[in-house]
Amino acid sequence: MAELSITLTCADYARVMPLATGEVKPDGVELNVVTLAPEEMFYRMARFREFDVSELSLSTYTVLRGRGEPLVYLHGFADVHGVAGDLQPCHLKLSEAARLIALVPTAFSKMLPALIADPDLPRKTLSRTPERVRPCIACNEGCIAGMAVGAITCSVNPIVGRDGEFAGGLGIAAKRKKVLVAGAGPAGLEAARVAAERGHSVILCEAETRLGGQLAFARRSSSYRLLGDLLDWYTREIERLGVEVRLGSRIAHGDADAMGIDALIVATGSRPRLDGALYNLPALPVQGLDQARVVSSWQALAGPVADLGAQVVIMDETGQHEAVAVAMHVTAAGGHVVYVTTHSQFAPGLAGALLVTPALEFLMRGSFELRTRTRIETITPGGVVLQAIDGGKPEQHLADTIVLVSPNFSVNTLATPSPARAYQIQVIGDAISPRFLGTAIAEGFRAGMSL
Ligand SMILES: Cc1cc2nc3c(=O)[nH]c(=O)nc-3n(C[C@H](O)[C@H](O)[C@H](O)COP(=O)(O)OP(=O)(O)OC[C@H]3O[C@@H](n4cnc5c(N)ncnc54)[C@H](O)[C@@H]3O)c2cc1C
Ligand code: SF4
Repeated sequence: MAELSITLTCADYARVMPLATGEVKPDGVELNVVTLAPEEMFYRMARFREFDVSELSLSTYTVLRGRGEPLVYLHGFADVHGVAGDLQPCHLKLSEAARLIALVPTAFSKMLPALIADPDLPRKTLSRTPERVRPCIACNEGCIAGMAVGAITCSVNPIVGRDGEFAGGLGIAAKRKKVLVAGAGPAGLEAARVAAERGHSVILCEAETRLGGQLAFARRSSSYRLLGDLLDWYTREIERLGVEVRLGSRIAHGDADAMGIDALIVATGSRPRLDGALYNLPALPVQGLDQARVVSSWQALAGPVADLGAQVVIMDETGQHEAVAVAMHVTAAGGHVVYVTTHSQFAPGLAGALLVTPALEFLMRGSFELRTRTRIETITPGGVVLQAIDGGKPEQHLADTIVLVSPNFSVNTLATPSPARAYQIQVIGDAISPRFLGTAIAEGFRAGMSL
């Protein structure tokens, strides 16, 4: 007997006909396919929620979600009404896809981002090296946000859009060089990977005792765990390519001069600031920093979440992922978050990638309060005093920990000229200025290719 009965409606596409005629029967599913003209299916789905799975226009989908309908969006093709269970709503890995295809055969279109991140996914999987597949991190930054500006890119795959140029691989460099990469965040890892792939001898020095830079902090927030998958992929790739990794090895100014290298790549990233400066209100820094436990996002994510206490106030000045990752980390563990930002909306940096709504939905399932156009005026021994930028009475909140997230400082001291230097030097990633993962990887790629 079938485990599941599903009605699916979509237009009369050749690719779904074998399902409609019964020529293809998904295991364990009693599938009833109804082919309809778009306007009729959208109307029937919107008005009567008549089908379990339906093709929908973006506008109908948005209206239904706005009404609170529990729809799950399948990337680029169908919308599922309550059958996909705990599967990720937007992006799938091959193993997850196999599971969803058993439920909803049209789910193949959800593999699209995974194929953008690594077009070799089928070949690597079929040749039994799935661990070599570069993972999609479900960030939407290059593919979905790129569609809006007419140029699709990919945060983890810098050759998207230039695929033809690299159809034969990255090529081998004419001269084998000795390359030192300082810093093993995503920028340094990508530079080391590409340089080694092209035949150079690469030493990768990392000050900490682990690889990953900020990825190692981000992965601690369960909602950002895919960044950890990317880090694991880099770790495997640089090992496969024979990169010499030196952990706990902080390169000081002048160290490289004695190493007989041909090229130095400075990928030393950035570090958080905890001086209370508000990027958007520089004349009004947070007062009372010594009155309570004040930490950076890195510190908040590094230790046990319980150490932050039950009441956490987050001051977000960047409007990017960093503060969101911390908020999700705390609410997922049952803590209460008061999210304060001087921006007029929650995490504006996530808007282009359509991630604001899912992030807010996640946070609102926990214990979460949002204060936009507001700043922390003063930190007190038991909490904070908030002040709305547009005026009004100050508001007091309890806080066991205050997390300050402001634009980082770049770490680029190695980039300063050294008289003994007889090697090429390039600065990449956050070491130039604190930005994003995709930028760090793209600059790492360019540096590796330039040698
Ligand atoms: C919680 C969190 C979530 C984030 N989420 C996202 C996201 O979803 N999308 C996005 O685009 N961006 C995100 N970011 C930002 C992104 O991670 C950074 O832009 C990116 O990591 C920058 O990469 P990088 O390699 O230039 O620098 P870093 O990641 O900072 O790495 C630099 C490395 O260099 C090492 N180092 C420093 N000095 C030396 C030295 N002298 N010698 C040797 N090693 C040294 C450091 O220890 C560090 O490991 C997030 C950041 C955080 C903290
Ligand atoms: S941009 Fe992000 S979501 Fe899109 S394919 Fe690349 S990694 Fe995946």
